[in-house]
Amino acid sequence: MSKPALLMTGPMMPLIGEGAAKAFAVHWLHEAADREALLQKIAPEISAICTGGHTGVKTDDALMARFPKLRIIGNFGVGYDSIDAAAAARRGVIVTNTPDVLTEEVADTTLGLLLTTARELNKAEQWLRQGRWAKDGDYRLTPGSLRDRSVGIIGLGRIGKAIARRCEAFGLPISYYGRHKQPDVSYTYHADPIALARNVDTLIVATPGGAETKNLINAAVLEALGPDGIFINIARGTVVDEPALIDALKARRILAAGLDVFWNEPKIDPAFLELDNAVLLPHVGSASIHTRNAMGQLVVDNLVAYATGKPPKTPVPETPFKGW
Ligand code: NAP
Repeated sequence: MSKPALLMTGPMMPLIGEGAAKAFAVHWLHEAADREALLQKIAPEISAICTGGHTGVKTDDALMARFPKLRIIGNFGVGYDSIDAAAAARRGVIVTNTPDVLTEEVADTTLGLLLTTARELNKAEQWLRQGRWAKDGDYRLTPGSLRDRSVGIIGLGRIGKAIARRCEAFGLPISYYGRHKQPDVSYTYHADPIALARNVDTLIVATPGGAETKNLINAAVLEALGPDGIFINIARGTVVDEPALIDALKARRILAAGLDVFWNEPKIDPAFLELDNAVLLPHVGSASIHTRNAMGQLVVDNLVAYATGKPPKTPVPETPFKGW
């Protein structure tokens, strides 16, 4: 029997390409000289898609509609805001993501970003490298510190909780906002982001992206955070009103920001580069070999589960598995 056909919407790590090729006839969209011609040719046979936010391809209802045999979309990443999961559910298509295997790595990165932002570790290192320690003396005392801070987490899910555990170990009190108060959590709950921001001086966002969280962090939230405020975004660029954030940083309405994600990646708003009170990372939250390998293997396991008639390991909540 011939292998089922799988569409890769963009480059993937070799582990994924090789793993998928054992069970599927794999078609690479980004390698096609004429993408539309490739899609027309393979559309009737495609039953699996492998994608990720980094490919720049939106797996929306219109794209899914082109593949009458589509059964599974395997996403590289826990965030699947580039996939219309509600449309997939209507079509009986399973969407899978990569939860848990990246949680601790992303939380580690978040604390690194928070420390760098508060204590200017990136600039202090540059001071040394540029020979200024010997020439000009000690690096300046930083206006930011984690001492006496209180942390607010927006999106206290798997990653949010891993961030909270680390903050607890740093001796920082924790509050949170999400759509639901969580009964098994002892941290202080605030029913809206402005109330949370008003009650803390360090705000960390770890929600999904997509329409529901678009511009959740806006000028009013940043105003409530206040002039000592540190804002950290590990979630998605779309969660933040970027012009409002740039404006707040320029006008020093907040102290500083640490950002791993942006609206327009990788071509971020150049205004960010002018800010001396922002630490900017190129979306590296989960980007270690260890963790990316674990994510890649989970993508393969989910896709191969379909090809071998087994239940997928990690379907997203919108598309619970009820059989192939
Ligand atoms: P998760 O366990 O599903 O947690 C998501 C949290 O966000 C939940 O606590 C949820 O609480 C809250 N939330 C969802 N929708 C919300 C809304 N509309 N308003 C307010 N809160 C909302 O997911 P996770 O595994 O922790 O991952 C979280 C996100 O981190 C991903 O979706 C992705 O965007 C981001 N991420 C970034 C990187 C990176 O490299 N920077 C890496 C991995 C993940 P309620 O249901 O109570 O609202």
